[in-house]
Amino acid sequence: MGALIAGGGSGAVASSAHAGCTRFRMTDPLLTGRSRRTLASALGHPDVGGKIPDARWVRALAFERMVHDQAFVSELLTRAVGLLELERPAAVRIRSGGDSVDTTATELASAHLAAKHAGEATMLFGLRVPFVELADQRATDVRPDFAIVASRTDAAGNRVGSWLVMGDAKDYERVRSRIDDGRMLKGFLQVALGAESAAEWSRLPAGMQVHRYGALAVPRNAYLRPEAVVEDLADHRREVRARVHERVTAYRAAGEQALTDAELAAHVAHLEAAYDPGTCSTCSLFRYCRAELRGSSDPTAVLVEDASIAPASHWDILGTKLKTVFSNNIRNNFGFLNRATPDDTDGADKLFVQEGRKVFKEVVPMVAEMIVAEAERLDIDPQGLRRLWLHQANAGMNRLIAQRVLGHEASEDESPTVLDTYGNTSSAGSIIAFHLNSDDLESGDSGLICSFGAGYSAGTVFVRKMG
Ligand code: SF4
Repeated sequence: MGALIAGGGSGAVASSAHAGCTRFRMTDPLLTGRSRRTLASALGHPDVGGKIPDARWVRALAFERMVHDQAFVSELLTRAVGLLELERPAAVRIRSGGDSVDTTATELASAHLAAKHAGEATMLFGLRVPFVELADQRATDVRPDFAIVASRTDAAGNRVGSWLVMGDAKDYERVRSRIDDGRMLKGFLQVALGAESAAEWSRLPAGMQVHRYGALAVPRNAYLRPEAVVEDLADHRREVRARVHERVTAYRAAGEQALTDAELAAHVAHLEAAYDPGTCSTCSLFRYCRAELRGSSDPTAVLVEDASIAPASHWDILGTKLKTVFSNNIRNNFGFLNRATPDDTDGADKLFVQEGRKVFKEVVPMVAEMIVAEAERLDIDPQGLRRLWLHQANAGMNRLIAQRVLGHEASEDESPTVLDTYGNTSSAGSIIAFHLNSDDLESGDSGLICSFGAGYSAGTVFVRKMG
């Protein structure tokens, strides 16, 4: 075990999933000297949700054991070799890397000789490979679940060396109809980290090449019977390498010094967080960031969560609706094709153009009708809405839309304007209006947040004050 926490395959997957978040990137264990779980606890927001259920562990361990079982090794190996169209092995060897870098190097050397000179294929378990870009540091090693070593032949069929096919075991059944199976993607990212690390390792035997494909052992059926799935790792390896490089560069830029306990809280607090409801819940800092968002005074900060865990005073979302109607009346004419006419590339018509009157005439009825129809669907009387927080681009449009929805000319209290103070704040406008004009509503009051714009596109969120 090295002193630097490099994160292994899980770290590679996580750094891809949360790559857009500066806070995630700059709390890399390489920089903080602690895992994000430990960091979350140190910050007072322990990651209690990320624990893997016991039953899930048992299943994973049972599956891993089956992958190692003699009964399946030949089958897995033969299938992987067949899928990759490698030379059919004369015999199958099973070896362990002994969870040690030195033993892994020794076993790879002997597997290479067996492949090259005797045409034997070797299934290796318990491997340890130095982490890519950190091989000369005391960093945690990469621990691929298995690797296959098989003969490498030239065009004439002569054995010239060996292939190293990296692999991992994942106990999830493949949903074959879903080519974008997210779990398989994660699995192959982990395999790719093993491949990148092995390809760079100076102790790889001469003549052994890391194959561009990798293998995942996944259950074929509910009884966890393993089978091999192979995939081209080229994209995964590029992705993993880019993320590792980013992390190692940040580590080196920080002087290769982990943060002290005293520096931690201020360091994390100053990092910009990019919240994403779709991915943040898998991050160990989720509770920390959620608490920050709950207490935020940022007018555009919005946290959507289950009512059972929300504070007593909150807003229920009664329904949301999106609508798009094609129109050329607001469009961006800037694009790569402009270069085809160099004499007027920068002409006014090559930028953002808008037919304002047409937009006004078409969007007002479209949005008003959408709001009324959605209110009906949600069984809400539109004329009983306590307040409308509308898109802040044109006060005249808002006045007309509010009138059509409420059945009378809206007062400033019923349809507040922030356009005069902040200008056109684009898609954030309705949320800013909501943020600045919602504290006075009573429990049970309903309202509408609505934005609209180019496309045309429009969206409604009906809300009710609770607590
Ligand atoms: S939970 Fe926080 S740190 Fe983690 S990805 Fe989301 S915003 Fe970034």
